Amino acid sequence: MSGERLSTLAVLPPAAIDHEFEENKWALNMTLIGDAHWKSLHKVEDTKNVVLRMEKKVNFKILCNENETLSSLYDDTRDMLLVNLSQACVKVGISIGTMDLSDPNLITLKDAPMDEVKKRNEPKLMSKARIFKDLVLNLVRQNKQVIVMIPPHGEERIEVHAHWEEILLNKLKDIRFPNIKILNMAQTMRSSMSEFRNNKEYLDMWLLPHHKPRKYLSDYGTRRLFYALRKTVTARTPHQADMGNWPTSQTHPLPTPQISNLPPPAYNQGFSSKSMANMSAIAPPRLEDYPCPRCTRPGHTPDTCKSKDKVCRNCNNVGHFVEVHDVTDERFRQLIVSVLKINLWDNGKLSGGFDGNHHGDYEPEIKRGRNDQPALHKRIPLDQLAEMEQSRDQRGDGWGGRGRNDYY
Ligand SMILES: [Zn+2]
Ligand SMILES: [Zn+2]
Repeated sequence: MSGERLSTLAVLPPAAIDHEFEENKWALNMTLIGDAHWKSLHKVEDTKNVVLRMEKKVNFKILCNENETLSSLYDDTRDMLLVNLSQACVKVGISIGTMDLSDPNLITLKDAPMDEVKKRNEPKLMSKARIFKDLVLNLVRQNKQVIVMIPPHGEERIEVHAHWEEILLNKLKDIRFPNIKILNMAQTMRSSMSEFRNNKEYLDMWLLPHHKPRKYLSDYGTRRLFYALRKTVTARTPHQADMGNWPTSQTHPLPTPQISNLPPPAYNQGFSSKSMANMSAIAPPRLEDYPCPRCTRPGHTPDTCKSKDKVCRNCNNVGHFVEVHDVTDERFRQLIVSVLKINLWDNGKLSGGFDGNHHGDYEPEIKRGRNDQPALHKRIPLDQLAEMEQSRDQRGDGWGGRGRNDYY
């Protein structure tokens, strides 16, 4: 606190400033839901003391169950959250996935080599990620900010966790900050690796020793979780939250009314009020992120495309080449429709595309790269953890540090 601020406080009557409230108001009307990771905040002596004060002072709540899974938290067929949030709740932190990822139907490197593991697990993880996204959008429609925790990894199934992290982040990445914030505990853990002499030391420090195989956070890990949560909640930009180049309303403004009217009537069939409500949270696809929507080739804009006055051999419409019909990426398709002003996929399959609820059999490919930046690491004493979470910004730990690839 600056000297100036201190002297200002000193002249005010003591009752005018509620220091305890000021200290904890970042968690005002916030509820944490999901699995046992949040519960650990109640188990470690010092985080427990802070959390108890927050619960009294700022209506902070932890409502979670030891073995919560995605399907016990959210009913996707009825689009219904299965936890009772209070009316006052404005921020929801979700920790889910640790139990889901223990599912024996998800294979590991013990069963098959990496490419086979990824191939076999991908459809299952994609389907879970789609449901998770529906849950997030459900909360966003209720005007709640959603903090999604990427679960800390345990000592086993690290490859499944890493795959889930990749798929889930890709799935959620068109929901704009700050409607969504990501608390990436797997990344927080990885970014500390170089502080340890070996993998055993690293896992011993982060994980609770009992309950083998170890998958829950130690006291140290729990404190780190608390400070990482505070840092994510108070972040004003994706960068401050270690979310790299996540879309915001500045980088991905909503289309002007003129553009949003572009899809022809056929396209609008199947538009529900729900999908309209989602649109305010979903980042629209941008021309600059895709190749030419008239011919799918890079290096020019659709205004200068050679196809502009040519007839398509597939559909006989003017203004695009036949390759466009082969596009499967849902968001690229949206862009194509808005540029061509024709819906090439108007047989009802695409109508979900605008609301981000992809219930069709198609799942968009993973294509976004991570903003991998080299991390600078140094050993920092335990009592400076809060500062450490703050200073990670300045040290430039972006998406990555020692990347997940170290585990593959
Ligand atoms: Zn072109
Ligand atoms: Zn065509």
